[in-house]
Amino acid sequence: MKTHILGFPSIGKQRELKQALESYWKGELSEKSLLESCEQLKLRHWNIQKEAGLDYVVTGDFSLYDRMLDVTFAIGAIPPRFKRDESRLKLYFSLARGDAGRNISAMDMTKWFNTNYHYIVPEIGEEEWVANEHPIVEDTLLAKKNGFNPKPALIGPFTWLALSKAQNGADKYKRLDQVVSTYAKLLETLRDHCDYIQIEEPILCAEPTPKEVSDRFAEIYAKLNAACGGAKLILTTYFGTLGQNIPLALNADCGVLHIDLVNGKEQLENILPSFPKEKSLSLGLINGRNIWKSDYSKAAKLVEQAVRVLGGDRVLLSSSCSLAHCPTDLAEETALPEHIKNRMAFAVQKCAEISSLRDIIKRGDTAALEKNAAQLLEAAKLPDIFVSSVRDRVKAIEPSMLSRKSAYPARRAAQKWLNLPPLPTTTIGSFPQTAAIRKTRLSYKRGEITHDEYIAAIRSEIKVCVEKQEKLGLDVLVHGECERNDMTEYFGAQLGGFCFTQNGWVQSYGSRCVKPPVIYGDVYRKAPMTIDWISYAQSLSSKPLKGMLTGPVTMLCWSFARDDLEPSETCKQIALAIRDEVQDLEKAGIRVIQIDEAALREGMPLSVEQAQKYLQWATDSFRLAASGVEDKTQIHTHMCYSEFNSIFAWIAKMDADVISIESSRSGMELLNAFADFRYQNEIGPGVYDIHSPRVPTQEEMAELLRKALKHIPKEQLWVNPDCGLKTRQWEEAYPSLENMVAAAKQIRAELNK
Ligand code: GLN
Ligand code: ZN
Repeated sequence: MKTHILGFPSIGKQRELKQALESYWKGELSEKSLLESCEQLKLRHWNIQKEAGLDYVVTGDFSLYDRMLDVTFAIGAIPPRFKRDESRLKLYFSLARGDAGRNISAMDMTKWFNTNYHYIVPEIGEEEWVANEHPIVEDTLLAKKNGFNPKPALIGPFTWLALSKAQNGADKYKRLDQVVSTYAKLLETLRDHCDYIQIEEPILCAEPTPKEVSDRFAEIYAKLNAACGGAKLILTTYFGTLGQNIPLALNADCGVLHIDLVNGKEQLENILPSFPKEKSLSLGLINGRNIWKSDYSKAAKLVEQAVRVLGGDRVLLSSSCSLAHCPTDLAEETALPEHIKNRMAFAVQKCAEISSLRDIIKRGDTAALEKNAAQLLEAAKLPDIFVSSVRDRVKAIEPSMLSRKSAYPARRAAQKWLNLPPLPTTTIGSFPQTAAIRKTRLSYKRGEITHDEYIAAIRSEIKVCVEKQEKLGLDVLVHGECERNDMTEYFGAQLGGFCFTQNGWVQSYGSRCVKPPVIYGDVYRKAPMTIDWISYAQSLSSKPLKGMLTGPVTMLCWSFARDDLEPSETCKQIALAIRDEVQDLEKAGIRVIQIDEAALREGMPLSVEQAQKYLQWATDSFRLAASGVEDKTQIHTHMCYSEFNSIFAWIAKMDADVISIESSRSGMELLNAFADFRYQNEIGPGVYDIHSPRVPTQEEMAELLRKALKHIPKEQLWVNPDCGLKTRQWEEAYPSLENMVAAAKQIRAELNK
């Protein structure tokens, strides 16, 4: 029984990769030093896997920015706007981050299936592709040279192509053969250096399967499998069940099939009876997406079920997906309550869990099994896990609590008192988090400044922020979120049932990491969370200040949720806490309240059936949080993505008065969905791409607004950036917003003519 994982986090237990990248981008670190730091990290991560007793270490899981981009770069699918006159590394990073100097915008970025990881979306046009070398080759040789047993891992051609975006109506699947020939060459280079090659096709778990994928899957995998020669191809699926694609996966040429048994337990019994004789099965048993210890007895049962049918030799033990979605090492945590830490496992510990599981099965290590069972039992009994007042409140939720007093048209009339101009301008909430702001928060956390000093410092930042917005001429202001290091952590820290790690970082995109809070028990609000700051901000301006909250679904999706309660129940608990805050904001005289649901779509399961269930409870939770206010209070929501088509009806059901969405990178395409649906409420499609340091021009944004007006009546249109500005510098944000306000004024004038 061989053991392996699907991937290890690249970022490093102390975020070493982040530091190296950011110093390199600032010009403080040479290319050579950057690559040396990366090599150290790779060696360290391979060592962890080897020490844990795994049979293979993964190569090709490490990326300087993004693994989808690595494939794009290797295939040579470089959009024509980028110039190829610089070093390969510079070109690679400008695809991801844009080239501010030359005014070239970055490639689009979007969420990787239902995770909070963002990949760079391949753009497929008609241009010629010139293949480049893929770093996986060098990494595999490096691993081998250092005495490791490498298993190269690549995102598969169907997943790459299915997630790419065709430019100007190009037929992207026309390029399939060319893509596959690059893969085949790559596999031929790798095959003599390894026993297994992992090719990941999570697209097989996503519904509906594009016809182009099903039609050509068998033929293409025959080619890829042949290119692997003596190495065994592991056709790797994750993030859900294969569902209708079971026959496709079983019939595809490959040595091993990997399935996710965390997000798709039930598929094992559907797969085993007809599992082909010549293949092995890799079982994804250890959850790559949470931080909890595995239940060995449950996992062992699945292994035994597989071994009974296939025999031990044809079974491999693994993680459900790459461990890149969980933090690196629990040993870095020194401040967690012992009883919570005892329940946890991060990537390093999960590698060991896979080995333990093998020992349990192979050698009948019952001591390990019993110890694990005892620990889990102990954890379930702890007092702060079950709070009866919270359970009672959830039970008492009435359907009427999920709806506003009146339907949108009446609310629209009631909200006239806000006195907003046509095409009102606003921002999404956060303003640049300057070094001074971060220092203030840190000093307070460390006890270096008093509470009063902290309040004064934050208030003065809020004041600066409000003054800047007044000067810019924005219509609905925000306080800037300078007291928040993170939109989930800020609220989690004030809610019961949450706790925090010191180093539980997970990569979000490029060098950006998040440290998700941990929900370990029932959730409740202890006291108001935002009222003082917003009230202070409102006292500085006669314009409406927008109260800023994180929605229940986003709180849940961006935390590590407990695994002993249904997520839908945890979500209701959070929604009730946010509902209380919304009502308190209204009482404090705040007229506009934004409840961010940035994560609503990413939390959606990949199968249609599970997705419908999720969307029902997720949108209900949002409504529960949002509906406790008067008609004249304007509720906004914000979402950070542009893939709306499949969930549009649900977005509409959320019934927010105003929704702001990401769209500048995708050129307002998504507004088609709003137009087709005859969406009644107001919409702010982002006109300023905040993921890039580039300052968009007034004319560019005016043009996006003109495009938007083709789909959306002017009465419904708002003007705002794509997302919050916390990662930007004032030097970029201010002129960008100046241009944005000017663009809004220009279009208002054009509409008046
Ligand atoms: N209000 C948040 C901000 O501006 C929203 C961030 C997000 O959607 N990711 O930072
Ligand atoms: Zn956003």
